[in-house]
Amino acid sequence: MDDCIFCKIVKGEIPSFKVYEDDRVYAFADINPVSEGHTLIIPKAHAENLGEIAEADLMAIHRVSQKMYQAMRSALGADGVALVQANGKAVNQVVMHYHLHLIPRKNSESRLSVTSWELVPGDMDAIKVTSEKLAAVL
Ligand SMILES: [Zn+2]
Repeated sequence: MDDCIFCKIVKGEIPSFKVYEDDRVYAFADINPVSEGHTLIIPKAHAENLGEIAEADLMAIHRVSQKMYQAMRSALGADGVALVQANGKAVNQVVMHYHLHLIPRKNSESRLSVTSWELVPGDMDAIKVTSEKLAAVL
């Protein structure tokens, strides 16, 4: 897409700190990092979200995420890596080109709020009904 910032990054029209590239995937440093090494993996082909991305691109991104996980552990000393991926403005997707965040973290750092929500037991009847709604369409 002509007005997509991530498509422009893939084409080299906007500079980025490239971490990895292959025929389907481009990975680069997030310039608003949550932690040292915060990286984005995107498909080269424009797709807005999980509903639009080609299955082969999705699989390629997750293969690369495994390599990135190992790289973050060995090169940065990360003790853990959070993978965060938002679909839609309701969950704060800002750039409307599919992207997977990889956020490395060390044990000595504070916990990421996105991975440390308070555990509150839910209503089992409501959980059952919701699970059945999902299962019915899968
Ligand atoms: Zn795009």
